[in-house]
Amino acid sequence: MNIIENIKDTKAEIKRLKGAGKSIGMVPTMGFLHEGHMSLVNKSVSENDVTVVSIFVNPTQFGPNEDLEAYPRDFDRDRDMLNKAGADIIFFPTPTDIYPENYLTTIKLTGVTENLCGLSRPGHFDGVSTIVCKLFNIMSPDRAYFGSKDYQQLQVIKSMVRDLNMDVEVIGMPIIREADGLALSSRNVYLKDEERGAALSLSKSFNLVESLIKDGERDAKAIRNKVIDFIHSHANTNVDYVELVHPEMISSLETIDGDFVLALAVKVGKARLIDNKYFTI
Ligand code: AMP
Repeated sequence: MNIIENIKDTKAEIKRLKGAGKSIGMVPTMGFLHEGHMSLVNKSVSENDVTVVSIFVNPTQFGPNEDLEAYPRDFDRDRDMLNKAGADIIFFPTPTDIYPENYLTTIKLTGVTENLCGLSRPGHFDGVSTIVCKLFNIMSPDRAYFGSKDYQQLQVIKSMVRDLNMDVEVIGMPIIREADGLALSSRNVYLKDEERGAALSLSKSFNLVESLIKDGERDAKAIRNKVIDFIHSHANTNVDYVELVHPEMISSLETIDGDFVLALAVKVGKARLIDNKYFTI
């Protein structure tokens, strides 16, 4: 496995590999890897000649009062996990390589970024779409793998690739969960033992929505309020948003008349957790 820390050498290596007819799969991450990330890596390894995993805690997708400094990092552990999984290249750049002093460009999407995390984390998706566009330009991947844990992010990337005619196939992968239902996340390390029960309220609320839908409830606001009450019945929870949204547009629904995504963001102690479920009607 090759660890490359700068853009120039990465581009040269990718050019060489593509020249030799190799297909490239890429998995963008912020590191501190877990089985959720590894499911993307395994899929890429199975579908491509070469798998590149980027590890970059992207400063531009963090707000001023967010956890950029505290974000967990463990490069040695990540490297060992990726080596074992058969990844070929780790792209591990520095922030100044990615954003040099004369850096001027931002990619900004409308619509799909204007709800959920786009509302509660202003500028977040500008940072996400810009870094992913840069990574695509550096790596020229044939395929790129993203988790539907970050459901809105996946729609943002798909929209960007469609709108800007990018030559990459975006592949969305299922959410990997602990046995008790908690969606794996690098930020789960922020959870104290006693907060774990409260953290489970996110995935448990899916059952509540399932039964409301089964009973014929179609009023999104009624469902939303029941989910918020359920989550707030657990200690140390603070709902950022609970929304029932259109699966592609990410617009909030008033009435359920087709498939929808239930999207949640909840602060549990210090951890801001997100989760979602796609409901087929
Ligand atoms: P991150 O390091 O948090 O930026 O995540 C990198 C990629 O891993 C993103 O495409 C995430 O959606 C994906 N990912 C994170 N957690 C999970 C999970 N529990 N299941 C599946 N994919 C995940």
